Amino acid sequence: MEFPSKLIENAVGELAKLPGIGKKTALRLALHLLKAETDATASLAEALAKMRFDIRYCDTCHNISDTEKCGICANPLRDHSTVCVVSDIRDVIAIENTGQYQGTYHVLGGVISPIEGIGPSDLQIESLVERLGEPESEVKEVILAISPTMEGDTTAFFLSRKLRDFPQVHISTIARGVPMGGELEYADEITLGRSIVERQRQAK
Ligand code: ZN
Repeated sequence: MEFPSKLIENAVGELAKLPGIGKKTALRLALHLLKAETDATASLAEALAKMRFDIRYCDTCHNISDTEKCGICANPLRDHSTVCVVSDIRDVIAIENTGQYQGTYHVLGGVISPIEGIGPSDLQIESLVERLGEPESEVKEVILAISPTMEGDTTAFFLSRKLRDFPQVHISTIARGVPMGGELEYADEITLGRSIVERQRQAK
């Protein structure tokens, strides 16, 4: 792509580094910003820089937070006896958006992946163990809500073994099944098989 200005070329180059943004979209965004009020570009740049430099992570669950403890950990109305372990902050947002979960979280920051060189010590696993081991811990249940990929299953298996040291803590995994609105014949065999094996009894 040829650019009439080095300044636009640089802006497009930077925008195109973002996930899901190709060169064409980057150019459209750059031209949009060029037409917008200069204040709008300044606010965008400031918001992005502030997010990047000022963001912090919750000391307890490692969720994104503006303060030492995130809004969920600091909320006395949440159920602090339940901890949902997820690999990523996006999973917290997704589960929160369902409005179905009242417990707390623990964000691992990834999954164990020997291919990518990510081992247990690169994740927030030890801090989960410490959290459960605190004398004032009221945790009674840990929900493993990790994607059912090979790496995810390895991570869940590793965690289950680590959590054996806490017999008072019940470990559960999220139910896996056929998606809402999905046709049974299109579900893959593993998903359909698990849905049958882990079927739920209907209340009469
Ligand atoms: Zn937190």
